[in-house]
Amino acid sequence: MNKGIHTIPKVDKVLSFPALASLLETHPRPTVLAAVRNVLAALRIDSSHGTLTASIDENDLCGLIVKELEQIVAPSLHALVNGTGVVIHTNLGRSLLAKPACRQILEVAERYSNLEMDMTTGERGERYSHVESLLCELTGAEAAIVVNNNAAAVLLALSGIAVGKEVIVSRGELVEIGGSFRIPDVMRLSGGIMKEVGTTNRTHLKDYQKAISPETALLLKVHSSNFSVVGFTAEVSIEQLVRCGREKGIPVMADIGSGSLLDLSKYGITGETPVQEYLKTGVDIITCSGDKMLGGPQAGIILGNREIISKLRKEQLLRALRIDKLTLAALEATLRLYRDERQAVAEIPTLRMLTVQPTALKAKASSWIRRIRPRIASSATLSIVPGNSQVGGGSLPLLDLPTFLISVEADGWSPQQIDSAFRQCKTPVLGRINKGKYLLDLRTLQEADLPALVQALSIFP
Ligand SMILES: *Cc1c(COP(=O)(O)O)cnc(C)c1O
Repeated sequence: MNKGIHTIPKVDKVLSFPALASLLETHPRPTVLAAVRNVLAALRIDSSHGTLTASIDENDLCGLIVKELEQIVAPSLHALVNGTGVVIHTNLGRSLLAKPACRQILEVAERYSNLEMDMTTGERGERYSHVESLLCELTGAEAAIVVNNNAAAVLLALSGIAVGKEVIVSRGELVEIGGSFRIPDVMRLSGGIMKEVGTTNRTHLKDYQKAISPETALLLKVHSSNFSVVGFTAEVSIEQLVRCGREKGIPVMADIGSGSLLDLSKYGITGETPVQEYLKTGVDIITCSGDKMLGGPQAGIILGNREIISKLRKEQLLRALRIDKLTLAALEATLRLYRDERQAVAEIPTLRMLTVQPTALKAKASSWIRRIRPRIASSATLSIVPGNSQVGGGSLPLLDLPTFLISVEADGWSPQQIDSAFRQCKTPVLGRINKGKYLLDLRTLQEADLPALVQALSIFP
């Protein structure tokens, strides 16, 4: 029966319900008021659409208001369980930080720091100095500077090197990266003039050579990151491009995207050239992200030629793109771990998850099921199945990492229903659906996720 809008009580009346009195004692009045208004507004909409079929009594209404209030006071940005197996999941925050990085964030957040002070002279220092020598030590670069993210790094570099001048780039490298980073758009913003050469599938050295003019300020190479062109293809290697640039006296820049500081091929992760190898080609400038394969916080790293980087340091734009102190603290702590490769692989979560062996994931699956099983209803069936995980973050899109997954089945529940219910838990759980099965990938499940997973699995009666 549709009782119509006149059955929905007024705000003042609702606030006088005895069941709401305790809410007003524990929460500020405007917050409770907001919850009441939201619930009443939603009921009015239901009513006007004729979807409010049952009448609502005082108890139901108070229940709805308590739930709404819980939502209003809960943080909007919160933790969740990533069971998708995508290690660098851009929508889920990309890289998790290593423990030393988390501790360093707290340290400089709770106390004053030497962010921009030189302790020997007592004069103003540079925030970039905290990571520059470390980056140079680890990569062999002459100089380095860090900014808010790689998009900012590319923007700053293009604007510093090529404003009002031509930048030559292959048509096969005019990429769009998730979250709307597009090379032609960044180029336009920077004030550089994009000069496209070659075709989508084939670009040759002579295409660059023919395009070079007195107006050329830069040869740009962009890592294709999140896609692959197969078949009749040709691209100019970074070595060839550097040689060409040298001959003509034009700097060469490579936006390599992911920025791996280790050769991970011995762990079965092939296809990503380490930053050090790029620099050995003599490329003048490299830009990469801090939170992809590097496994640090969101940041943009610019490495290379000392003169160019000192020019970028003076750009006014740098002030708008500058890295914040918490990020800097996390980046420095992450980079320090790279001094010892074993320590980096063991402690940096992104590297740990990428390099973990399938046998270890299978053992983890058995152990998790053993721990979860006694705490959930017998109507849910958990079993171990093999599959593949993805690196994510636009890195190595064609690489499959062999993994093990927990398949979750329950009588009367479709995988889509499980997915939706898990996603709406207080601590949401995200898995994936494959061939009619709801799956959780052990690769990206963290020890701290276990209680939330048990809670999600407790929806089955
Ligand atoms: C990811 C990526 C970017 C954007 O980096 P953000 O750190 O997300 O700003 C730019 N270029 C390439 C090639 C990338 O892979």
